[in-house]
Amino acid sequence: LALAATLTACGSSQKTVDAQAAPSGSGSAGALIGVTMPTKSSERWIHDGDNVKTQLEKLGYQVDLQYAENDIPTQANQIENQITKGAKLLIVASIDGTALTSQLQQAADNKIPVIAYDRLIRNSPNVDYYATFDNFKVGVQQATSLLKGLEAKKPPYNVELFGGSPDDNNATFFWNGAMSVLEPKIKDGTIKVRSGQTDFKTAAILRWDPATAQKRMEDILTKTYTGGEKVDGVLSPYDGLSIGILSALKSNGYDPYPVVTGQDAELASVKSIVAGEQYSTIFKDTRKLAETTVKMADAVLKGGKPEVNNTTDYDNGTKVVPSYLLEPVIVDKSNYEQIIVGGNYYTADQLK
Ligand code: BGC
Repeated sequence: LALAATLTACGSSQKTVDAQAAPSGSGSAGALIGVTMPTKSSERWIHDGDNVKTQLEKLGYQVDLQYAENDIPTQANQIENQITKGAKLLIVASIDGTALTSQLQQAADNKIPVIAYDRLIRNSPNVDYYATFDNFKVGVQQATSLLKGLEAKKPPYNVELFGGSPDDNNATFFWNGAMSVLEPKIKDGTIKVRSGQTDFKTAAILRWDPATAQKRMEDILTKTYTGGEKVDGVLSPYDGLSIGILSALKSNGYDPYPVVTGQDAELASVKSIVAGEQYSTIFKDTRKLAETTVKMADAVLKGGKPEVNNTTDYDNGTKVVPSYLLEPVIVDKSNYEQIIVGGNYYTADQLK
């Protein structure tokens, strides 16, 4: 408790996990590390960037942290600049996982190791390690939580499905995980997708854009739900999309809302869960992902082998990238106090 209180007092909305100090005299001491994150438009990446930077700096590294506002050429340039500046290692959360092949080749030519952060970088042999959450499991959890929320209603349930950005390798993992749970229910008639849009391609939302999700939900409501039928549930893979989806539902008179899932435990969405609007989210502790990645980076720079726990699932089209997968957690109204507040991710005050 005392520790929690000290951490809370430091002002940031989230607390970084302390890493251990670097042994003095190491050859990698003070090395520059390039960190590239996709966008500041979603809070989670701000936390990721801050956590990675702080923890690397605690180990004595210098950090160049860049955000690209979801613009692919900007991210490619940032990586090239970091190589030019003499970065000794790159940590990359990609925007388009297929668009960095030549930058990573440049890194390899300069003997700069690369760690893919959260999102796998595809079509390149030059990805050394991958730190992420169990992305298939995220999808399974989203669908499981959706079904739990639907239990309060009478089947068959009208459910609409949303997917993430097709250029983000995670998006298909989330989708496949969710569909592994939902497909049998669609087949046996427990779930009806009235729009008929049950394939990833039509459900996917490019660049995870909330406004695109809102528009798609509105279109589905006005084209499909014309005869008084109601949507009972929506599979949403990310809190930002859930916000767009909820606003489309609101402007179409939904009160109460259908069961809407999410991901990331972003502040606005946890508040929405507390208020009984969004049903659930998937909590992925960005402090732990940063900690895992920083440990990997430190081990690589010191010439060691980082710990991995998966060497089978993440084939990037060129190689299977050794990965460390963290565990995601379902959060809804019944456990947010324990997981989110108790875990010191947000304070009770922030959720007011
Ligand atoms: C991340 C999710 C996030 C999404 C949108 C995915 O790659 O794994 O946590 O919701 O991107 O930013």
